Amino acid sequence: MALIVQKYGGSSVANVERIRAVAERVAKFKMLGHQVVVVLSAMSGETNRLIALAKQIQSTPDPRELDVMVSTGEQVTIALLAMALKDLGLKAKSYTGAQVRILTDNAFTKARILSIDESRMRADLDSGHVVVVAGFQGVDEQGNTTTLGRGGSDTTGVALAAALKADECQIYTDVDGVYTTDPRIVPEARRLKTITFEEMLEMASLGSKVLQIRSVEFAGKYKVKLRVLSSFQDEGDGTLITFEEDDNMEQAIISGIAFNRDEAKITVVGVPDHPGIAYQILGPVADANIDVDMIVQNVGHTNTTDFTFTVHRNDFAKAMDIVKVTAASIGAREVTGDDKIAKISIVGVGMRSHVGIARKMFETLSVENINLQMISTSEIKISVVVEDKYMELAVRALHQAFELDKATA
Ligand code: ADP
Ligand code: ASP
Ligand code: MG
Repeated sequence: MALIVQKYGGSSVANVERIRAVAERVAKFKMLGHQVVVVLSAMSGETNRLIALAKQIQSTPDPRELDVMVSTGEQVTIALLAMALKDLGLKAKSYTGAQVRILTDNAFTKARILSIDESRMRADLDSGHVVVVAGFQGVDEQGNTTTLGRGGSDTTGVALAAALKADECQIYTDVDGVYTTDPRIVPEARRLKTITFEEMLEMASLGSKVLQIRSVEFAGKYKVKLRVLSSFQDEGDGTLITFEEDDNMEQAIISGIAFNRDEAKITVVGVPDHPGIAYQILGPVADANIDVDMIVQNVGHTNTTDFTFTVHRNDFAKAMDIVKVTAASIGAREVTGDDKIAKISIVGVGMRSHVGIARKMFETLSVENINLQMISTSEIKISVVVEDKYMELAVRALHQAFELDKATA
């Protein structure tokens, strides 16, 4: 007997038929004698619909109230699934995040999980129930409803698996695993049987929304056995996130390509080039709880330099306002912004032991006449920022250049 946490995304619970199909899959695992905890998303499109509704009242919705509202999507699906399970003759109980007591900090719309009380779930499992938990939501110390950021149900799933020391966390979605890149953009993309935890972390943080980054972080921290599978197929092993690199296997140099259009670029032009400048510019941005991603500071000329960084597009306007104030106070020439950018990244642990990967990436993009606005590298990834209209072309060209459509040994 194993304890399995299964998380189903929005398209897997999109309607009553899909919810029935989930109930049947859960029943199959129960028949095999396993204990099952199910984490659900809202029906696909529902979270977007709720956010749009809020925006009809307030262009920038109050974060506390927005969380009260968007968390309702998951409350609907958990109740429906519990009903469907009971219809199949199983014992089942649904819980909201607060009812479980998934305690988070109070950063509305992007809260972090602090602790999970697993006692109630454990008691239900021991008495033969399927426990159905609303993903994406929690409660803070004051009893306020919080949500975990878009795609946050993945994190609920992995966090519950960690808290319950589950044997496996299965993420069911509309693709049958993690691919070399988003199969919607590159039809030749190939499913990976395994991907290392480190690579998955990079892929997720660089834009592959198949898993929310925080879910991968949780899996790493608590060594949760994590697998991505399709809820639309009965067979298949999906993709297993592994913690060790397989020495026996011929390691692919590049495992995948990630991309995103979620960022915007801000450049402070003509910054006086002296110590403390990066801190002066980015300090107030961090104080406003805005995450900064890529940072480039050019070599100074004639005592001034240019300083460029990227933020999430949602934070672009706010960050521009903050940086303009700073720029004036430090005597910079001007601040420019551009939200028509895309970031494309190649990821692979095999990069560590191979040279010439960057050269091949840059060569491929130059053949396509795509200008690189920013570059950043780490041991296992290279990212470039390009004009967003070239994103798909760049991803396809790189997928082909690195022969990701071909199976490796
Ligand atoms: P869910 O609603 O089940 O959480 P998501 O839409 O959040 O599903 O994530 C699944 C989607 O992630 C896929 O439909 C696919 O378009 C996208 N995706 C992006 N990159 C990848 C990748 N490398 N492998 C598989 N899917 C990817
Ligand atoms: N329903 C939430 C969203 O759309 C959480 C999730 O699906 O993971 O972002
Ligand atoms: Mg998702």
